[in-house]
Amino acid sequence: MHDLQFHQTAVILQFALAFFTILGVSFIIAPYGRHARSGWGPVIPSRWGWIMMESPACLGFLYFFSQGQYSAELMPLILLAFWQFHYIHRTFIFPFRMRTAGKTMPLAIVGLAIVFNCLNAYINATWISHFYHYTMAWIEMTVFWLGAGIFIIGFVINYHADTVLLNLRKPGDTGYRIPNSGLYRYIACPNYFGEIIEWIGWAIMTWSTAGLAFALYTIANLAPRAISNWHWYRRQFPDYPPERKALVPFVI
Ligand code: NDP
Repeated sequence: MHDLQFHQTAVILQFALAFFTILGVSFIIAPYGRHARSGWGPVIPSRWGWIMMESPACLGFLYFFSQGQYSAELMPLILLAFWQFHYIHRTFIFPFRMRTAGKTMPLAIVGLAIVFNCLNAYINATWISHFYHYTMAWIEMTVFWLGAGIFIIGFVINYHADTVLLNLRKPGDTGYRIPNSGLYRYIACPNYFGEIIEWIGWAIMTWSTAGLAFALYTIANLAPRAISNWHWYRRQFPDYPPERKALVPFVI
């Protein structure tokens, strides 16, 4: 737990996972949400799947953080607050905002996400509370304010984009429509765009390889899915605006 070499190995493992993830999900679209399909073993209700798979990112992070030698100091606690600001919402609020009556996801997806989130929680939490000593001098660093600003912008984009999608459905409805407000006028997946910006912000504000590994993993996981979603919209809706990109406005 308090072995720096073990931590470094775990960070390298996460870089490797990012590499294999981008290869894997470019060929096999993760079978949940609009891409759900049979043949992936036992399933559970989507809402409970989300709570289970995101819990290690929230509660596991808290556990690993609390074991750190600097866990009672203010600067690590400020960084903890940023992380939990995102993950308390993602784990315990977002699943109850979803309109997913009757929808399921494979336990295999939940299991893989749990393994990843445990690794990610470990490398990031122990870095900020134990392996690196973030004193209050860190708050005067440009990287902290720059990263924090980027993180907040990413969160706002992600939250707004999720909200637009969730409001497309009336209670009890589980169908799909074309979203047309905010950044959806330019891209198919502003929720993923915002998520990626958030974790780039985290990598900058912590200026850590653990943060960088998570940001790269998020890009590896979400960029191919954004392209799959974009193709899906174009197949599903003949009137889908042709000028819209998948993930980055005016670029891809
Ligand atoms: P989606 O955009 O696929 O779906 C989000 C919600 O909106 C789901 O409830 C979905 O329903 C619903 N929805 C999606 N499109 C439409 C539409 N056109 N009309 C009506 N309802 C729609 O996002 P994900 O489920 O993949 O991800 C959810 C959040 O989790 C995102 O903010 C994402 O950034 C984050 N995330 C982060 C990851 C990371 O690596 N850090 C990995 C995966 C997700 P349904 O489920 O029925 O399709």
